[in-house]
Amino acid sequence: MKLWRFSLSLSFRGAERRGISALSRERSLAPLGMTGTVAAAIGLFLSVPLCAAEPAAVTVIRAGTLIDGKSSTPRRDQVIVVRGNRIESVGDAASAKIPEGAAVIDLSRATVLPGMIDAHTHIFLQGEDPAEGGYDVQLLKYPLAFRAARAAVSAHRALEQGFTTIRDVETEGAGYGDVGIKQAIDGGYIPGPRMFVVTRAISTTGGYNLEGYAPEIEVPKGAQIVDGPVEARKAAREQLDHGADWIKVYMTHRSWVDAKGDLVSQPTLTLDEIKAIVDEAHGWGKKVACHAYGGIGLRRALDGGCDSIEHGLDLDDASIAQMVKQGTWLCPTMSVYYDHNAPENTPAGQRDRKRVALHGPSLRKAYKAGVKIAFGTDVGGFSWNDPIAREFPRMVEFGVPPMAAIQSATSKAAEMLGMSGQLGVVAPGAYADVVAVTGDPLADVKVLEKVFFVMKDGKVFRNEPERVAR
Ligand SMILES: [Zn+2]
Repeated sequence: MKLWRFSLSLSFRGAERRGISALSRERSLAPLGMTGTVAAAIGLFLSVPLCAAEPAAVTVIRAGTLIDGKSSTPRRDQVIVVRGNRIESVGDAASAKIPEGAAVIDLSRATVLPGMIDAHTHIFLQGEDPAEGGYDVQLLKYPLAFRAARAAVSAHRALEQGFTTIRDVETEGAGYGDVGIKQAIDGGYIPGPRMFVVTRAISTTGGYNLEGYAPEIEVPKGAQIVDGPVEARKAAREQLDHGADWIKVYMTHRSWVDAKGDLVSQPTLTLDEIKAIVDEAHGWGKKVACHAYGGIGLRRALDGGCDSIEHGLDLDDASIAQMVKQGTWLCPTMSVYYDHNAPENTPAGQRDRKRVALHGPSLRKAYKAGVKIAFGTDVGGFSWNDPIAREFPRMVEFGVPPMAAIQSATSKAAEMLGMSGQLGVVAPGAYADVVAVTGDPLADVKVLEKVFFVMKDGKVFRNEPERVAR
């Protein structure tokens, strides 16, 4: 019965979306052989309990320790009341009133946190080993349906690791596939996190892969290529029109170590080009994420009004000061740069080591100066089988205290996404996105790699209490 009702209500939602009347849709659901009138009558009868507002399910979570995503200190023995898909109240267990008939989830031996946010993911990448064809085979050999199927698995992986929201920053040649995966998650067809998507991303001629092929052969590009402010604005319009929640722009591309031993990054879009994109996106009430390592491209990104700098692994003092002044977010993604580095005695190997050497100190300086930090990992750039939360120890290693690192993946990332109070916090009125770990993440952030309980939108997606007993 439950299943039948569920499938009916799904049909209703789909029918409404397509502008089909609920009645005619129900006729098509009637068993064969029924007359239209009888079927319609049964359809109406069946639809009564669906249309009547059912009381929202109430769940109570007992939290041994609560890190709420916003407060600077954890609280002991809390009770979280969830009604439907929202948090209704949070309070001391001693004085809390448990609503009658509520389902109780006992996490009294665990640390409970808001569902985490990874603000830099790529569900359409799988951490390809360069030795196995690397990035290029994704675009050259795999049908889109194959890539979409794997993207669905990646989204599932994010959710089961406690990342209930992701900002997925481009599909790498898979077009508007991220919009489709997001629709499938929101429609309840596949499990996954809440998604903020950027679709295709934008760079310039000579500013993105695939490259290195004979000039006579036209190869696909992983981003939408534009030249000139008119094309730049048009690409932003197209992407926003097709469902982009953010615009992603590559402001630097190639990088190398010069004769002085400094990292140099090739700039891509001109100031006029990035300004056209930012102006267009802001007009739609949307924001712009800019991939930029350092140098000219980073300066253009900041002068052009970018909302977040992605990676920002080579930040000078002037850029940091400008980010503080403009309120620009930094989304560092450190751990991915430790993977698959080229041999040390090659130009690429020197570059790879220089990137690692600069990234941590850049984050340390930026955090100290008061730059706003949003947690991001570039997962997809590394395998979805690796723990996403492996980024936390890197942040702590470079001067971000554990509580600030956790907040960068909760309330701070939510603020960047324009979702303050809704996401990244365990507080009344927020979406009921809640996770739990064993142990104290403030003493050891690595425990965030072992999330054993995940609730998204008030529904329990994962609960493996045996981890608590260990
Ligand atoms: Zn990335």
